[in-house]
Amino acid sequence: MLHVNENYSKIQASYLFTEIAHRVSAHQAANPDAKIIRLGIGDVTEPLCDAVVKAMHKAVDDEATRKDFHGYGPEQGYAFLREKAAKVDFQDRGIDIAADEIFVSDGAKCDCGNIQELFGHDVKIAVGDPVYPVYVDTNVMAGRTGANDGGRYAGLVYLTCDASNGFVPGPESAGGADIVYLCYPNNPTGAVATKEQLQKWVDWANANKSLILFDAAYEAFIRTPGIPHSIYECEGARSCAIEFRSYSKTAGFTGVRCGYTVVPKGLVAYAKDGSPVELRPMWTRRQTTKFNGASYITQRGAEAIYSPEGQAQTKATIDFYLENGRLMKEALSALGYEVTGGGNSPYLWVNVKGDSWEFFDKLLKKANVVTTPGAGFGRAGEGYIRISSFNSRENVLEAVERLKKVL
Ligand code: PLP
Repeated sequence: MLHVNENYSKIQASYLFTEIAHRVSAHQAANPDAKIIRLGIGDVTEPLCDAVVKAMHKAVDDEATRKDFHGYGPEQGYAFLREKAAKVDFQDRGIDIAADEIFVSDGAKCDCGNIQELFGHDVKIAVGDPVYPVYVDTNVMAGRTGANDGGRYAGLVYLTCDASNGFVPGPESAGGADIVYLCYPNNPTGAVATKEQLQKWVDWANANKSLILFDAAYEAFIRTPGIPHSIYECEGARSCAIEFRSYSKTAGFTGVRCGYTVVPKGLVAYAKDGSPVELRPMWTRRQTTKFNGASYITQRGAEAIYSPEGQAQTKATIDFYLENGRLMKEALSALGYEVTGGGNSPYLWVNVKGDSWEFFDKLLKKANVVTTPGAGFGRAGEGYIRISSFNSRENVLEAVERLKKVL
């Protein structure tokens, strides 16, 4: 008999966004004239910048000629992109990462999900709570957890992120985990970690032979000097961390699809007999076997982000989103709400002083504003909502006025 992977049945239905969509459409049906403003989405709203568009047009023209046509590319990514990423994202910041440690992909979500294939089934996984659900669900699918009980899976270590630890838990709560997923700036809380906080994780991982999977998808939003953009800013991180990068929020590539993963040379996990096994060749093997590369056109577009024009244009777009966040944070703070995030992140994490879903309903029904209830990101998200800065200025200003009236 053909059996399914029973682990899939453990996964909680994607209750959060389905339920939001259901409530929003019911509200719209009951109020057809309501102009709903969506501040729940994590998708960008501004178009690709000029430097990227020009580079992609040129790449299409390349593909139209016999001389410059590109078919299958290298599975790890074209050297032109890996070299620019290594230089601008790391070496120019004094970080020791080489082009051949960078693996270009079609985005960070796939890499965050695929990386766990490299590890044994018995490894102990630690995740934040609240959390970006991909880290959890991919490990559930792989059979590394027990059943879900009240929103938490047996066998996972949950690192509570709340006001008591400034939404940045430390390794003292990691309970012997072999792998910890860290994400800063964080989705959903918008919190950032200081170098000292990350260094503690790196020291812990090296001491315990554990691995940090560091998701830096939102690093381009960091504006406060001294806040690390990369885990490799910490001493010793090359021997205990893999980092995920994404052009989605950096440069509006959510639809174009491109990102990369850094796997340093010399980074190891262990075989059953205790002998070290290098992860970089394993990831190379995984990618060359199962992935055929991001398209040439896409990678030429990503390369253009690193040109002086591309850097200036992408920074301007992120500044625009950050200003959206600042306007909303200022208004909510003036209304007496504690708000984490913004400033170095596109997300605001608002303490609603009550039930997440009730507050969500209130904003939907009274202000026609859609947010995301924090409870949907984990048990510790109860009592919060996430507000996204990805929207037009016009909608943000209108939303602020409506929030002022309703709250
Ligand atoms: N990591 C985090 C924390 C995210 O919030 C997202 C997207 O929302 C991703 C990764 C996915 O990035 P990509 O679009 O590159 O797949």
